[in-house]
Amino acid sequence: MPSNIRILLILIVGLGCGLSSHAWAETIAQDIRVGIHRDKTRVVFDLSATVPYQIFVLADPYRIVVDLPEMQWQVPPAAARRKGGLIAGLRYGQYQAGNSRVVLDLKGPGIVGKSFFIPPSKSRGPRLVLDIRKSTRQAFLAAVRAPPKRVAESKAPPLSTKPKRQPTQKPLVVIDPGHGGIDPGAIGVSGIFEKRVTLGMAQQVRKAILALGRHRVRLTRDRDSFIPLRRRVAIARAAGAELFLSIHADSIANRRVRGGGIYTLSETASDKESAALAAKENRADLIAGLNLNGHDDEVTSILIDLTQRETMNYSAQFATELVPQLRQLIHMRRKPHRFAGFVVLKAPDVPSVLIELGYLSNRKDEKMLTNQRSRAAIAKAIARAVDNYFKAQKS
Ligand SMILES: [Zn+2]
Repeated sequence: MPSNIRILLILIVGLGCGLSSHAWAETIAQDIRVGIHRDKTRVVFDLSATVPYQIFVLADPYRIVVDLPEMQWQVPPAAARRKGGLIAGLRYGQYQAGNSRVVLDLKGPGIVGKSFFIPPSKSRGPRLVLDIRKSTRQAFLAAVRAPPKRVAESKAPPLSTKPKRQPTQKPLVVIDPGHGGIDPGAIGVSGIFEKRVTLGMAQQVRKAILALGRHRVRLTRDRDSFIPLRRRVAIARAAGAELFLSIHADSIANRRVRGGGIYTLSETASDKESAALAAKENRADLIAGLNLNGHDDEVTSILIDLTQRETMNYSAQFATELVPQLRQLIHMRRKPHRFAGFVVLKAPDVPSVLIELGYLSNRKDEKMLTNQRSRAAIAKAIARAVDNYFKAQKS
């Protein structure tokens, strides 16, 4: 059965609780927004807590119904007039004791291709997102007839809530050595693989950070193994990372080009080169033969849509700490801090930076990145930036 229909049937998120529980009575529904995209209409519910929900459809007229627990509806009056795309109108409010309901009136047959929660960030609560796609009347009627079904596995919330650090715990830095296993990354002038350089470097950065005694460190990989880009993000989030550093080294046909650069996430790349670099780094999963048409692929693109500005600001702050530290050791590129859409930087709630330490296609850069002493010095510089960044957060 196609997954869009499956999800549409009925989706229950939560701990298997019924919708009529009063556990969510304090939850506030703050807004309902409608976004029109080329291929879908997106309805977003701004809530103060993650709640269970279920979705079903009704024909003649075409409607999508979202059932939620009873909660406080503090949605601005303007929300009721929101329409556009496939949405002709909407209603919301308490439906019966213990239950709220939202009814979306459709302009024509439309199917909920996806629905999921975006976890809360520091500045905003969780958001329930419904992506509605145009369908045929036939497909719509099939969905109306379909028996209710629970979807228990991970189809529901694509991202879990990031665990919070205990007050007694030190902040966690996750270091991500780029590439690995079947994906060698760039290949150096002497034939060395980027995946080896990044792992060696990451291990040294870990050592340097731990030597300061103020942080915890975890690596996304500690051996020569392939890890999909999204899993790297998931590892960082699941571990409760407060900073994510992805380490890379580039290569280019022109062997004279050298220098390091620091990249943070942005919807639009700061320049053509950065866009091309992101496209190249994002190919890692393709190289390994991974099917990218999966569910979470779209989730990551959605996350950048509804961007977590705050996380992006923190990422930029770290980049600002890192540039002067690295500059003392590494030849940095003109405009050392740039932006592009790197998949590995898309954790919505973990400040993330990708460091290109240099060009393995350049003999000098390659030597610098394979030499133990220069590596150790670079690792210490990164550790100092990490330390400064967390000190700045505290003050
Ligand atoms: Zn790379």
